[in-house]
Amino acid sequence: MEIKKGIGVSPGVVISTAVVLDAEDLLIPKRQIDVAQVPSEIERLDKAVADSIADLTGLRDSLTLQAGDDVSGVGGIFDFHMGVLRDKSTIRQIVDEIKKNHTTAEYAVSTVMRRYANMFLGMSDRYLSERVKDVHDIERRVLRNLIGQKHEDLLHLRSDVVVIAHDLLPSQTAALDRKHVKGFATDVGGRTSHTAIVARAMGIPAVVGLGNLTAEVSGGDTVIIDGTRGVVIINPDADQLVEHQEARRKKQDFDKGLVDLALLPAETKDGHVVGVQANIEFPEDIDEALGQGAQGIGLYRTEFLYLASETEPTEEDHYASYADALRRLGGRPLIIRTLDLGADKYTQAKAQNPERNPFLGDRSIRMCLHDIPMFKRQLRAIMRASVLGDVRIMFPMICTIMELRQARMVLNDVMEELEDEGIEFRRDISIGMMVEVPAAVIQADQFAKEVNFFSIGTNDLIQYTLAVDRTNEKVAGLFCPANPAVLKLIRDTIRSGTRNSISVSVCGEMAGDPLYTLLLLGLGLTTFSMNGPDIPEVKKIIRSTTLEHARQVARRVMSFDSERQVMHFLREETRRIIPEAF
Ligand code: PEP
Ligand code: MG
Repeated sequence: MEIKKGIGVSPGVVISTAVVLDAEDLLIPKRQIDVAQVPSEIERLDKAVADSIADLTGLRDSLTLQAGDDVSGVGGIFDFHMGVLRDKSTIRQIVDEIKKNHTTAEYAVSTVMRRYANMFLGMSDRYLSERVKDVHDIERRVLRNLIGQKHEDLLHLRSDVVVIAHDLLPSQTAALDRKHVKGFATDVGGRTSHTAIVARAMGIPAVVGLGNLTAEVSGGDTVIIDGTRGVVIINPDADQLVEHQEARRKKQDFDKGLVDLALLPAETKDGHVVGVQANIEFPEDIDEALGQGAQGIGLYRTEFLYLASETEPTEEDHYASYADALRRLGGRPLIIRTLDLGADKYTQAKAQNPERNPFLGDRSIRMCLHDIPMFKRQLRAIMRASVLGDVRIMFPMICTIMELRQARMVLNDVMEELEDEGIEFRRDISIGMMVEVPAAVIQADQFAKEVNFFSIGTNDLIQYTLAVDRTNEKVAGLFCPANPAVLKLIRDTIRSGTRNSISVSVCGEMAGDPLYTLLLLGLGLTTFSMNGPDIPEVKKIIRSTTLEHARQVARRVMSFDSERQVMHFLREETRRIIPEAF
């Protein structure tokens, strides 16, 4: 049994079988096999090695055809790879692993190749130490050939699992079989990293920032993921199993008690009503969110249309998604956020020129304004869909007035084009912006005169205010919504919205954290937008308090100068109205 401590980012407890996802989406299957399977496992190994040599020969030949004989450098690499795979002593070591330890061929290949890699790493000769990359390449090629034969993928799981990964890329979570995935645990990440947000949206436990968990768990191991306490237990003993089964039962009982609340209005005891909406990544998420009590969609993260696909979506792809979302919503509002690609929502591996500081780089609205044809494709689809329901547009990461004006200009161009083409759209569409950088808060009064609503993206606002990477587990302790500087920015944004008679929502993860419900309510927030599973508990708090009490709480909180005081006070106040909270 091994107990690992990380950052709990989605509450609850799950006990299930692990699948380990490596960086290339390869699931290393179960480590142990029966003695009787040893011969067939060796056969699988032989075939995969032969296939890998054939791949390499093919690659080398086609390169020679294209470049003539001028392939000496690259050709040398192929020779090295083939040499390793033909080396009898290497293969013997892998076969010995299978025979002696009764492991799968995949596991044996990984073990021997990692041994090799470590040997090269320890060499002082630079040429030789660089060969470590080739060893990894060889390992991946053989694994691909081995796993290709079994083809376990995350989209077609046959039973419930928990996913163990270094990190879950947005493109990987987009391709998950959501029915069978019951928990996540990752080596890296923070509270608002993508894995955390997806886990909360799915209502499954997750722990991130666990260091080298992927090296310690094997596919098939039993794993407990305790997202409430931020703990992962590998191959638990009987006591741990009993304890966690009990914790799981308690959480399920608590959640059951909230079900009846979901569809009631978010109204305080003294009759003050606020809006509660959901954040989604795909239109299919809508049905569940409505069942959880969402009154509309406050944040549709449309970049997932890109992240879930190998090719760039067409205008029709956009339109089909928006039309689908509106049909599911039956007249309720849909806030479509324009593409927020880049930084955490883009694989740097995919980028042609990886950026040194992607969070400060060509992301989000900047990327759209650098690629007007791409931006227009999306805006055309949104405007065409605007006649199908209550559509609103929201621009992300606005830092300067000029950016907002440019985005609006492109939207105007799109409207003119549609008019010329005789296509219907709603000219009076509501236009809003995300407030997620301090500059936007500082100039909020100017922005408020040019938009119909603000939505505060606390995930990025905290990151950019406190200079803390939201995805980095090493600084996760600094990422805190309760920081007084962050709270002042939120307060000022809401005040500016009120002064200028525009609505203000929060759509960052803070909106769904019950610890902050009283505070946000007391600061005058009119709409909360969160992951569907968070809605019932937040509604429960709103329905258990008065606006006057929430205002008193907010006044007191704004007088504190440390996040510790803020969190302590909010926990006490919330427990006074709901003793079983947290
Ligand atoms: C935010 O930054 O708070 C937000 C809601 O946007 P995202 O998490 O998609 O960056
Ligand atoms: Mg953001």
